[in-house]
Amino acid sequence: MKLCASASHGIYFNCTQCGKCCSSDSEGYIFVFWNDIKRISTFLKLSYEEFAQKYLNIVEFEFTLWDTNLENTHIQKSMDTLVLNFSLDQNCIFLISIDEIWGCQIYQARPKQCELYPFWSMIMISERNFINHQRICPGFRIKGEEKDYYNPNQIEKLVKIERKIERDYYLKMKEVNFDIFQMYPFLKNVRKFRINK
Ligand code: SF4
Ligand code: SF4
Repeated sequence: MKLCASASHGIYFNCTQCGKCCSSDSEGYIFVFWNDIKRISTFLKLSYEEFAQKYLNIVEFEFTLWDTNLENTHIQKSMDTLVLNFSLDQNCIFLISIDEIWGCQIYQARPKQCELYPFWSMIMISERNFINHQRICPGFRIKGEEKDYYNPNQIEKLVKIERKIERDYYLKMKEVNFDIFQMYPFLKNVRKFRINK
């Protein structure tokens, strides 16, 4: 894996819990995969169907396919996937503010994608994306304490967790001929839409 120039010597990162990555300041979707659905619906004490109806949407997204070593195959595959709903102000539906302090209502059970931020492949291998996210997120530091330092190996390990989740999703979708309704039978009442955020 070739990390972008800014990440290639490691980075300092410490989340300030400002909530910007969960708000309209940030672009993109929050993907939700099977393990996330199980964990969050249990946390919220909802059935899968209730959780999906209330909090999920289906979007079609162009995924990069990763090989068995989780390296880039340079092949893209468009697939339906589940994402969290956004509220009218374009913030994540689970983002709350109490006395101007931002928080996540499902923090202990939040999607793996949220937990891994900013160690996403699209950020750590693209200088342009890295700089964009560095502008949004005050957790990126030029210098910091030793505990906040992530060396290139640690960054790659975290990026590979995300890639593995996406690869597993692709393989499972392939088994059901890329039909998300077969993959998740409880989806029958979930809206399907395509948006470009
Ligand atoms: S934008 Fe960065 S500092 Fe703010 S909550 Fe997200 S990860 Fe933490
Ligand atoms: S689920 Fe929580 S951590 Fe993830 S984007 Fe929403 S508010 Fe942020």
